[in-house]
Parts: sequence; structure tokens; C-alpha cells
Amino acid sequence: MLALGVALVLVTADVMQQQAQRHGIALARSIESYASAGVPEEAFTIGVLAPGDAQRVTEQVTGFRELRRLRLWTVDGTLLYDSHADSTGFPDGERLDTATREREPVAQVVTVVRGEQVGGTETTLLDVYVPVQQGRVVVGAAEVMLDYQGTADAVSSAVRTVTLVVAGGLAVLWVLLFRTVRNASRRLQASALENARLALLDSLTGLPNRRMLANRLARAIEESTATGGTVGLALLDIDRFKDINDSLGHDRGDELLEQVAARLRGALREDDVVARLGGDEFAILLPDIQSVADADAAARRVRQLFVPPFMLGDLALHVDTSIGVACLPDQADDASSLMRMADVAMYTAKTHRLGVSVYSPEEDDSSPARLVLLGDLHRALGVADELELHYQPKIDLRTGRTVGLEALMRWRHPTRGMLPPDLFVPLAEQSGLIHDLTRYALRACVEQLAVWRERGEPVPVAVNLSAHDVTSATVAEVIEHLLATHDVGPDLLEVEITETALVSDPSRVVPVLQRLADAGVRVSIDDFGIGNTSISQLRDLPVHGLKIDRLFVADLSATGREGSEVVVKAMVDLAHSFGLQVVAEGVEDVRTAEVLRRLTVDQAQGYLYSPAVPPDRLRAEDLPRDADPRHAVT
Ligand code: C2E
Ligand code: CA
Ligand code: CA
Repeated sequence: MLALGVALVLVTADVMQQQAQRHGIALARSIESYASAGVPEEAFTIGVLAPGDAQRVTEQVTGFRELRRLRLWTVDGTLLYDSHADSTGFPDGERLDTATREREPVAQVVTVVRGEQVGGTETTLLDVYVPVQQGRVVVGAAEVMLDYQGTADAVSSAVRTVTLVVAGGLAVLWVLLFRTVRNASRRLQASALENARLALLDSLTGLPNRRMLANRLARAIEESTATGGTVGLALLDIDRFKDINDSLGHDRGDELLEQVAARLRGALREDDVVARLGGDEFAILLPDIQSVADADAAARRVRQLFVPPFMLGDLALHVDTSIGVACLPDQADDASSLMRMADVAMYTAKTHRLGVSVYSPEEDDSSPARLVLLGDLHRALGVADELELHYQPKIDLRTGRTVGLEALMRWRHPTRGMLPPDLFVPLAEQSGLIHDLTRYALRACVEQLAVWRERGEPVPVAVNLSAHDVTSATVAEVIEHLLATHDVGPDLLEVEITETALVSDPSRVVPVLQRLADAGVRVSIDDFGIGNTSISQLRDLPVHGLKIDRLFVADLSATGREGSEVVVKAMVDLAHSFGLQVVAEGVEDVRTAEVLRRLTVDQAQGYLYSPAVPPDRLRAEDLPRDADPRHAVT
């Protein structure tokens, strides 16, 4: 910017200087023409000017105010005339030559001291050699000295002004630019910091997030590998957080999460890392622990933190958690397997209501026994007599009559006997065999429906689908094809998908459910309540009913938790307000059935009425001969 300013000033000064000199030269030419008019032709040739002629020259140029001195030179440098009446003196030979040779005036700014004595005033003159021509011949030159002081002063004052203006302008510009740049760079810096912070911290609780946990975990594993230590990881999930969120509102839910974060952070050692992984899931990294037992003990201590109630406004809320623990190198050998093992353990803790669960290798999918079983399952799917469907009745709680059945798969294993689905369905899900298994179940079910319809016993049956089944339209195609082939009405078939399947990938699952609903097949949400769906989320989904998980139902029994009735009642009321039918599963005693009836639950299923049995062992009353069994429901 400085260079630009200097260049601007220099160029401006130069232009002004040249302009001023052009004026001076024009004036000098004019003075020359007046002066030479008084000089006889031969004077330049002979190099002498008569005093009378000299007088005439002086008179000719007296009118020019700016003229300070005039000298006339012959081509070879002889002085013909000098207005200062010096008869001697020498020209500036170079300029004289140039002017006479080029036939063009040559100007130069010179400084002279007026008065010989010390302290004489300096003055600036423009000294111009103007060629004198007679006809086309250059005979000499007139040296015209013009007062240039005023012009020089004017030019330099103009240059000063320009310099000031330019400098001022540039300074203002610089200040503006500087401020803009500084503000922008401050903003950039601040947002870079904020981004870096946000990238690693959870915005609600300020705890490290999943990414930062991954960093810390990687470092802890590196160190433990070097020192031979143990790294513990605990995953913690708040039980029924969704219910809290739904009943108290998201603000209160957030408040609870913040309080949980504060309790966790306050209770751990400096080295330990508490992170929020999202939702109501937290992780605790114990980077240097003695043993698996210690990690277990630490997790139990953490769980104790939840014993005092959380205060949300003036509401004292009791909150339970499920914690899964895994350690490296005991149960995992890298970060991702450690996470997975802790997650498996957490799931076990949650589904079995254990509070804290340490990962157990028995649940490892890659154990040899599992691989053998997987091979067996593969084979079983290809034969007709190993996998079979058993049916459990669904009872209308108002009439006490059977209004439908649920098909549950059993495996008559050649050497291991009858296997429950928990032993092979998860295996099928992990190995990709699940689609074949589902197809098998659907075919068996629709064939059975066709048989019952033939006999005049058209009872609706629900088939369980896995999360993997409902992410593509194939399952809908299979169902449509089976119903058409066996001429079975879609109203006789129902599908159950778990709540977790629904929330895992709604954008893919919802269109599949929609297609099934459009085809006339009823859709129910299974195991409702243990996942994190809120009933309000179901409102806009093509879902017809929900099945309250048996953990909640068990809570309603005499030995169950206090306050469970309120939770179930809230669920039922909300579900009904959205037009959903409610089924309670796992009803084992009369008292529970009575409570459910009072809470206006529509249907019940459980050992109280009947376990799942092979089709030929169903009681007559479980196969109503009505034209439409669901008339009993509505
Ligand atoms: P689910 O869909 O929640 O099925 C209910 C489970 O509870 C069944 O276990 C049933 O036998 C059991 N049950 C019924 N009444 C009671 C009771 O009063 N008390 C108790 N404690 N349990 C009761 P099951 O048959 O072992 O099935 C377990 C799970 O396996 C099912 O849970 C379902 O998720 C899955 N499953 C079963 N058949 C299939 C199938 O064909 N395909 C798929 N993908 N999954 C299936
Ligand atoms: Ca089910
Ligand atoms: Ca269920």
C-alpha cells in the first residue's frame, strides 16, 4: 500500500513538472522569436552584435515579466548578447549542441544564488536553450532564463497536497482494511476454536463426545499395551428415559441429562473420562484399572450415584440405569471390539434388569459352538421337519375370547432337542440367514392359515419379522405373493416388528410398513417400552397396534414395582388416542390380567391362557369358528 502511495505521488509530481516545463518552453520560444527579430542576419555568422542592435533586443523582450535573463549564443558558443550586460561567459555546451542539432528547445531547472555575497537568496530558474533559425538554417540559440520559483513552489505545494491526500486516503483505507481483516480473522479464529470444541464436546452437557472418547480410548489402549495394564469401558443407559422425556417434556429431559452428567463427572477420578455418546447413553473410560472385577466394582459405584432422586423443579425423580462393562485385553483386543462388548453387556443388563453386567464370552458370536449351530440352521432351512411354528393365543380382555394367534418358531434339533428362538434367531440375524428364516416362517404360517380357512376357522395370525427384514421391500413382495398363491385374505395376517427395528432406520423401514399396510396387512410394534420410541412417534406411522413388553407387564404383578401402573396407563391412553390397539404380553397371573383390563388394555397373551403350542394342540376355543373373529374386539 505504501509503494502504491509513493508511486502515485511520484507519477503525479512528474506529470505536473512536465506540464509546468512545457509552459516554460512555450514562453521561451515566444521570447526567442521577439529577441531574434531584433538581430541582423549576419550577426550570428560573424559573432558580434552592435550595441544598437543589442539595445533593440533588450527593448523587444522587456514586456516578458517572467524573463530573468536572456543570452544569445552562436552555434559555436560565442556570446552575442546578454541581458545582464556581461560580455563574457560560457554556454552549457552540451545543451547548446543538443538544441541546435535537434532543432528543439532543451530545458533544465537550475538554482542560482542571487547576490554574490554570503547569504544571497537562492532562486530557481528554468533555463531553456531555444534554437534560433534563419530560414531553415540553425544559426545559434537563445538561452532564456525564466523565473521558475513560483511554478516550482506551486508544483511542490501541489505535490504536497497530493501526497497528503493520498497518504490520508491510504491511511483511512488501511485502517478500514485493517479493521475488517482483524475482525474477520478474530471471527475466524473464534469460530475455529468453537468448532474444534464442538467437534469434541457434547453441546448439552459439555462432556466429551463420542469422537473425543475414541481419541482417549485409542491413547489409553496404546499406553496399556506398553505397560501391560487393563483398560475398562462402561456404557451406561438411563432406563425409560423416553418415558421421562414424553411425560415431562424435552426441557426436563435435557435437564435430567445435565444433572446425570454432573453426577458422573463429579464422582470419577481425574484420569477417567465420562463421555456422552448421544441420547441417554453415556460412556465411562477407566484408562488404568487393576482387573475386570475392579471395573465391575467401579460400575456398581457409578450406579449407586443414581440412588438419590434427581430434582427437576420440585419433582423428585427416581432414575435407574443399566451399565455394561468390558475390559481390554481380557475381553477385547481393540477399541471397536471393546465398545461392542460393552454394548452387548449393556444390552444384557437392560433386558435382564441386572443393573450392571460384565461382558460374558458365552455370548460371543464367533465361538465354535455357534458356528456349528449356524451350519445346522443352514441345513434345517432346507428340510421340512426341523423348524416349526407354534401358536400362542391372544385373548380379548373384555370378552375373554381368543381373537388371534402369534406364530413363534421352534427348532426340533436332531441332537439338541427343541430349541427356543432366542438360541437361533439372533444367530440367523448375524449371519444373513434371517431372510430365509423369515420366508420359512411366512410360508408355514400362510399355509396353515389356508388350512384353517378351509376348515372354517379363519383366525388371524401374527408373524414376527426381524429388523433386517423390514429394510427392503422384498418381505412385502414375499407376503403379497404367498397370500395370492394360497388365496388367503390379508386381514388374516399380521406382522410384528420390534420397536428397535423401527427406530434403527425409519427412512427405510417406514415405506416397507406402508406397503404392507396398503396391502391390508396389520402391523404391530413388538416389545414396546424397552426402546426409546415415544408413542407420539407412532402416530404418523402405518402401525395398527403395539405390544407392551412383558417387563412392564411383570411390574404390574403383586411382586412388581410400585408406580408401574401409572406408566402403563399413560402408554395405553396415549396409544388409544392415536387409534392404536394395545396388547399386553407375558400375562402370567389373574391379578395382572385384572389390572390390565382395568387399564383398558385390549388384548393379552401369556402363560395364564396358554403357552405357544403346535397347531394340532390348540384348543377348540382358540380356533373360533366365527366368520370374523375380530368382531369380538370392536
Ligand atoms: P416375542 O415376539 O416377544 O415373543 C414372545 C415371547 O414370550 C415368546 O418367546 C413366548 O413364548 C414368550 N411368552 C409368552 N407368554 C409368556 C409368559 O407368560 N411369560 C413369559 N416369561 N414368556 C412368555 P419365544 O417363543 O421364546 O420367542 C422369543 C422371541 O424370539 C420372540 O419374542 C421373537 O422376538 C423371536 N421370534 C420367535 N419366532 C420368531 C420368528 O419366526 N421370526 C423372528 N424373526 N423372530 C422370532
Ligand atoms: Ca412378537
Ligand atoms: Ca414381544
